Amino acid sequence: LTSEAQAVLDEIEAQNVGFLRLQFTDILGTVKNVAVPADQAEKAFVDGIYFDGSSIEGFVRIQESDMRLIPDASTFAVLPWRKREDGASARMICDVYDTSTGEPFEGDPRYVLKQAIKRADEMGYMVNAAPEPEFFLFEEDEDGRATTNTNDAGGYFDLAPKDLASDVRRDIIYGLEDMDFEIEASHHEVAQGQHEINFEYDDALTTADNVGTFRTVVRAIAAQHDLHATFMPKPIPKINGSGMHTHISLFTEGGENAFHDDDDEFNLSETAKQFTAGILEHAEALAAVTNPTVNSYKRLVPGYEAPVYVAWSDRNRSALIRKPAARVPAASRIEARFPDPSCNPYLALAVLIHAGLDGIERGLECPEPVRENIYEFDEAKREEYGITTLPSNLGEAIDALEEDDLVKGALGDHVAEKFIQAKSQEFSEYLVDVSEWELDRYLETF
Ligand code: GLN
Ligand code: MG
Ligand code: MG
Ligand code: MG
Repeated sequence: LTSEAQAVLDEIEAQNVGFLRLQFTDILGTVKNVAVPADQAEKAFVDGIYFDGSSIEGFVRIQESDMRLIPDASTFAVLPWRKREDGASARMICDVYDTSTGEPFEGDPRYVLKQAIKRADEMGYMVNAAPEPEFFLFEEDEDGRATTNTNDAGGYFDLAPKDLASDVRRDIIYGLEDMDFEIEASHHEVAQGQHEINFEYDDALTTADNVGTFRTVVRAIAAQHDLHATFMPKPIPKINGSGMHTHISLFTEGGENAFHDDDDEFNLSETAKQFTAGILEHAEALAAVTNPTVNSYKRLVPGYEAPVYVAWSDRNRSALIRKPAARVPAASRIEARFPDPSCNPYLALAVLIHAGLDGIERGLECPEPVRENIYEFDEAKREEYGITTLPSNLGEAIDALEEDDLVKGALGDHVAEKFIQAKSQEFSEYLVDVSEWELDRYLETF
């Protein structure tokens, strides 16, 4: 056993943990878990825990279904909302292994992200990332099912009593802190019932793990207040949707921020600009992964602080990438504003990293920042500035993904194939559906 694993066994004793949840994510980003009695922990570290991968979305076919989970000891955390006298529950995030080869399983999103981090490492960089997941809190109906009635009518940075959710947010923050999150800030977002809680940046893998944990904690604690927390990108039309802006920077082995340059007008290094150019170049295909649901594209429309156009800016929020103001050199970074919280955080970070590194490797030239509100540009003006648009629906995004070898390569053959299959299926189901909007519009007109 490693010393980290031994420390986990000690913690299990000390905190009287009865059950361990071994977690991993499927290709669509859903956190899955296998619960084992805590006395299995040692066995899990040494041999892994076997499970049937054929029932997991995007994993394997029935005939090759045995998978093995090996817990990552550094992710051990006691679940704060399940604390009790007769034994607490704890979780560990696992890597998935193929039992037939003994190798890491290529379909494991965590492995896909590790590959992207490895590529950065080979180029001499360490990747830091910080997401800003937004979410809505909705009331539940009598049967405990989610409604789209927001629990308050607050707006941006409103305080109680209008912001009725501040109690819930406080409990969520305590829950996150119990799970070792460092919370930077929390506020009521622009839309009624919409919230954001920001946590400290970390290396890319920890950040992706954190997003999964964050979504779980937020939902669990909201439920204790009889509220439904949703990370659906656009639950209500005509008001802001929920994004998951993702801040990224690269650090050198010597601990310097490779994105910072004192002498540049935007304090961005050539490396940061090439990284930006890489993301702009692959944006359409990236969207399939960072904005992977039918509903994602209802958010990416003009007028609601979500990006639509492929451009970067040092100030305005209608651009795909923004350069936030940085107080210290270590904080120079770029903010990708298009991802939304329905994405698989491992896959989303993996493709963003690969696209950025591609920009660095090819020395891509970054266009000038756009300082005007691009929502107000007409087509001619966009053409003049060389600004293209994001896909307008999931189908277009998948088409772009199919044509982008770099982004497909970032996912790896296994995930790319399963992902495209699952998402094409999702989009075709949507296309044949008849929506509320159509009924309202046509049922009595024709
Ligand atoms: N909700 C907006 C989005 O969809 C962002 C609003 C903000 O954080 N200022 O991206
Ligand atoms: Mg924010
Ligand atoms: Mg926000
Ligand atoms: Mg932001």
